[in-house]
Amino acid sequence: MTEIEHASLEQAPLEWDTQLFRTALAQYEQALPDAEVEDAVAERLRFPERAMIASVPVRLDSGKWTVFPAYRVQHSSVLGPTKGGIRYDPHVSLGECAALAMWMTWKCALLRLPYGGAKGGVRCNPRELSTDELQRVTRRYTSEMMPVIGPQEDIPAPDMATDEQTMAWMMDTYSMQKGYAVPEIVTGKPISIGGSVFRSEATGAGVVMVIERACERLDTPLAGKDCVVQGFGKVGGTAALDLVARGARVLAVSDVSGAVYRPDGLDLDALGTWVSTHRHHLNEYSEAEHFSNEEMLELPCDILVLAALEEQLTAHNAPRIQAGMVAEGANGPTTLEADEVLAERGIPVLPDILTNAGGVTVSYFEWVQDLGRIFWNRGEIRNRLREKLADAFDRVWSFSENRSLTLRRAALVSGIREVAAALGARGIYP
Ligand code: NAD
Repeated sequence: MTEIEHASLEQAPLEWDTQLFRTALAQYEQALPDAEVEDAVAERLRFPERAMIASVPVRLDSGKWTVFPAYRVQHSSVLGPTKGGIRYDPHVSLGECAALAMWMTWKCALLRLPYGGAKGGVRCNPRELSTDELQRVTRRYTSEMMPVIGPQEDIPAPDMATDEQTMAWMMDTYSMQKGYAVPEIVTGKPISIGGSVFRSEATGAGVVMVIERACERLDTPLAGKDCVVQGFGKVGGTAALDLVARGARVLAVSDVSGAVYRPDGLDLDALGTWVSTHRHHLNEYSEAEHFSNEEMLELPCDILVLAALEEQLTAHNAPRIQAGMVAEGANGPTTLEADEVLAERGIPVLPDILTNAGGVTVSYFEWVQDLGRIFWNRGEIRNRLREKLADAFDRVWSFSENRSLTLRRAALVSGIREVAAALGARGIYP
């Protein structure tokens, strides 16, 4: 057994040492005994490989200047280039990026994608910025990150408050600096510049594929199930529609303003049209009852889909959750304490690194297509995604049954083992 000597770091906390990073690290520590990883490899994977802090000066439309802090964290490049989203949010920090990057590493490895995890972002309030200002933020952020990103190094994608337009600006900025078009530098870009025809729906569609597989394993049909979906954005909106397409009923959905509820099921087409036409928040919709997000999470239902943000199920509300199953579309929506409560209460949690992996999987397809300059149609992509998710789901389910582990623990252990095996084979340089 290798002996580990911990560097003397007690004097000052590490830059990425925040609550969310501690959660990611604690999950890793809890999974390690079942992953049976060699000590030196385990120690190496506790740390991100590289963390970049930059500052992004931007001229506002008013003519004034402001400078935003910006980050990119790469957790592990053992299996291939790192991969992960870029978010624009006032809470973006090095610690948040480090936690999300670590989860991306396990997620990519669990899906057997040749990637490691990364995450980045700009600490800003995107709702207060115009489209022109956002474009300037994105182009300068991309320039600052040029030394660490690249199609074989680190490939960004959209995340909270970034979208295909953001990716188009990133791709253009990178390509202009190189002198030729490099579509494979980002995924989640518009179809006209090499984007995937299925990327925008991939995460939400994948969430429902995983739920469907879980229902099959539990020998109960998805059709007829009552569902509640937190978040009505890219992930939650698509998942809600796909659940209805498979015969389930969606009783409630929510956005940042609150939840709408109908005991006989919402008319999602009408709701979606209303939201996109009026650009209003759900709390202004008149054809349904209203609840707060907190109240909605505690509604009785068969399946609760979490597709908004982190730390939504906590020690506080987990004892009151009345769902038969929880599906994590968002990253980190269940705290460690809530996980324990739900496990004790026998409520299965379909974990984020498996359940929302549809996005990165189709991103991988997009990158492969860009590199090969060949393009697949929707049906081909959907089928390949279903195969990948089913394979990962079955491995997690069997491992969880054989070792009496929660699905989260089984998923983490499976992902960690893949990375650890690769690092063990390569050796820790030098
Ligand atoms: P989005 O911005 O399209 O949608 C987010 C939704 O959450 C919106 O409806 C918003 O109103 C709602 N929301 C925001 N703050 C809220 C709050 N305080 N309470 C309740 N609802 C709130 O984002 P998205 O792409 O759908 O991402 C949602 C989650 O899924 C994030 O955790 C993201 O990291 C994760 N995720 C996204 C993808 C992807 O491909 N988009 C892939 C994997 C994981």
